[in-house]
Amino acid sequence: MQKPAVVCLDLEGVLVPEIWINVAVKTGIEDLKVTTREMPDYDKLMRQRLNILDRHALKIGDIQDVIAKMGPLEGAIDFLAWLRERYQVIILSDTFYQFAQPLMRQLGFPTLFCNQLEIDENGRIVNYHMRMMDPKKHAVAALKALNFFTMAAGDSYNDTAMLGEADLGFFFRPPDHLPDEFPLFPVTQNYEELQQRFAQAGCFK
Ligand SMILES: [Mg+2]
Repeated sequence: MQKPAVVCLDLEGVLVPEIWINVAVKTGIEDLKVTTREMPDYDKLMRQRLNILDRHALKIGDIQDVIAKMGPLEGAIDFLAWLRERYQVIILSDTFYQFAQPLMRQLGFPTLFCNQLEIDENGRIVNYHMRMMDPKKHAVAALKALNFFTMAAGDSYNDTAMLGEADLGFFFRPPDHLPDEFPLFPVTQNYEELQQRFAQAGCFK
């Protein structure tokens, strides 16, 4: 008897656009365009982002306004519905609950494991709190310890530990340099290809 399967999906770049890139475009602040796709050190990246927000006096409300106008990527809602009919699905993201809420609503509130922002009474983002170090990898390891067969898909540096921990890990539309650095993970470029990979895993009939 096959183990039941859980699919762990990255959020930004897989189901929704990059939140920070949208904020950069909307605000015209070029420096905010850097993401985990280019900068592997997430703490350094977040410190840089919070400094930039402070320099431009941007508050949580300004960013939530941008996020509220973003939608999921084209096809993401159907893809997620297809997946959830077949597997248990958990979104593992390095974003923050305060950012994700309007997008989760559009996706039908799938299970989301992410992080928290610390916001002062004036709406200034003063700090961020990761639930733990390397949360995506630990989540997959915990699911394996619960005797699930695990599959994962993501697009960035911060997904590679998750993809490596999972029984099957796939890139979804990664930047060109990532598959060269991590040649073990098959690359998918659209939802059809990713669906095929998950279907081939054969955990459902
Ligand atoms: Mg991503």
